[in-house]
Amino acid sequence: MQESRHFSSNCIVLRVTDYSESSYILLLLSETHGLISAIAKGAKKLNSKYFSVFGLLNEFDGEFTRSARSELLTITNANLIKSHLPGLKYSIVQLLSAGAELISQSIFEEEEADKYYRLLHGYLTYLPTVSNNPVLIFWRFIYSYLKLVGIELEITTCHQCSSYMGMILNYSIRNGCFFCSSCLKKESISADLSGSASIVILAGVSAEIVHKLPSIGNHMSDFTITKTTFELINKVFLNYLRYHLHPKLHLNSLKGFII
Ligand SMILES: [Zn+2]
Repeated sequence: MQESRHFSSNCIVLRVTDYSESSYILLLLSETHGLISAIAKGAKKLNSKYFSVFGLLNEFDGEFTRSARSELLTITNANLIKSHLPGLKYSIVQLLSAGAELISQSIFEEEEADKYYRLLHGYLTYLPTVSNNPVLIFWRFIYSYLKLVGIELEITTCHQCSSYMGMILNYSIRNGCFFCSSCLKKESISADLSGSASIVILAGVSAEIVHKLPSIGNHMSDFTITKTTFELINKVFLNYLRYHLHPKLHLNSLKGFII
């Protein structure tokens, strides 16, 4: 199929890289074309009409041209729809940026672009309205993302024997899944490990949060989230993402996050 040289689409800015004195290269999530890289010529100039359009996580309506010689698109026109970050607390910016970071490392077909766009857009607009425990919305975002990618988190039944797991969640780093207590023992023995290094146990608040993620909107004030809970749940999610998607996947935006 001959691809059209021009198209327009709503976009969210996922990454901004300096390219020259006056231009940026942008990594964008386009509603119609998925992840695209585009050059914004002259956008760094103070008198450019695009000067404030291409900030991180900004949403804009853009027009693009494709050249036959390069993967890189050229932005020929852009109108700002919304800047999401100005005025937000740094911790909220970190959580939003981590969401963008995850999307930027995704691989998906152009036909699915609108689904990823809706997910990120919903996250960008909803998270800043939350006052209690905003990190819960970040975890729900990851939960929904996993569903969209097709690697939904299985937390009801044991990966090994399919028995019901109950409240406590034993996550095996080596296997990228949850085990019931008896399979966990076997797994630890066969791996010839004490189990402590390769297993993350989510109990108490951590387990309750993960169990309630599908309807977390109804439980926003139910939890006191400690640094340990934050780190344990992130550890499980990051490992799960790395195991099932990409071993080098990163969420660097969360570095230094203060809960
Ligand atoms: Zn089992």
